Amino acid sequence: MAIILSGRDLSDKMKQDYKKEIEQIKQKHNIVPGLAVILIGDNPASLSYVKLKEKACTEVGIVSHDLRFNADYKEEELLKLIQDLNSNNNIHGILVQLPLPEHIGEEKILCAIDPEKDVDGFHPVNVGKMMIGAPSFLPATPSGIQQLLLRNNIGIEGKHVVIIGRSNIVGKPLAMILIQKKPDANATVTLCHTRTKNIAEIARTADILVAAVGRPHTVTKDMVKQGAVVIDVGVNRIEDKTRKRGYRLIGDVDFEEVSEKASAITPVPGGVGPMTITMLLHNTIQSAKKHAGIE
Ligand code: NAP
Repeated sequence: MAIILSGRDLSDKMKQDYKKEIEQIKQKHNIVPGLAVILIGDNPASLSYVKLKEKACTEVGIVSHDLRFNADYKEEELLKLIQDLNSNNNIHGILVQLPLPEHIGEEKILCAIDPEKDVDGFHPVNVGKMMIGAPSFLPATPSGIQQLLLRNNIGIEGKHVVIIGRSNIVGKPLAMILIQKKPDANATVTLCHTRTKNIAEIARTADILVAAVGRPHTVTKDMVKQGAVVIDVGVNRIEDKTRKRGYRLIGDVDFEEVSEKASAITPVPGGVGPMTITMLLHNTIQSAKKHAGIE
């Protein structure tokens, strides 16, 4: 049976460290990290992500500025708000929860955020820096996956990592992070998507298999090499009348059967999700330190 890679446990440990670090920064430098969290509209999934982020901020001592607006909030208003936040010295990170309503241009908004406060790592400047391996804010989900592997003593160097899914927030940046010429990376990466032929065959060659698709049962037992490490990024709601809320969350991987073959596997929930939030906290603290000139 596979070892369960608990992002929840690791995240709890990391948050304890962040709490201490923030306390020290506060005492020595009189700085409290601040994160602006912008949510437009009332998408239930976005609302629950935002609440989790805000809760995690409070737990470690980051001041979370919750900025919520109706779905008809105008693009110009949002751009003006971001400008104000860019020049506000108490704000070290700006997060715009995606997806945005259709009348707001996502790229325009992400480009308006000061790259020095872009703790999501989605600004093209940070994406470019990530590509060349320069210091930058790394997107939270892929860097959380990297930390989850490394802190569980799963080496990445020299491994064949197969990623299913090529989105700008998970698949592509994860590939970019893991191919860097660095000891905590140095992987050989294959990125698969809907036009990839023979995905099962490719998946079976993976030492580390990552599913970031958003479709239940995408990864089945026959697609996994004996002893591979399996990372399930997917979050899918499926109906479950036994639950009060009427649904439960499952990943992209057939957890039960794949865990018989894998050497390690992430659960859903409690795997990659908590790590995503933790890396957002990490980026916000780094930003606050940088703004205060702390090494
Ligand atoms: P996305 O933007 O919808 O991208 C999905 C990717 O999967 C696309 O590249 C798509 O290929 C590929 N794909 C879809 N069906 C496929 C199939 N049958 N075979 C091979 N590839 C297929 O999704 P995302 O934003 O990356 O998110 C993916 C999942 O991760 C979602 O369930 C999301 O909720 C979850 N997620 C979780 C976290 C977390 O913190 N736990 C964070 C982010 C996302 P094409 O490009 O060819 O269309």
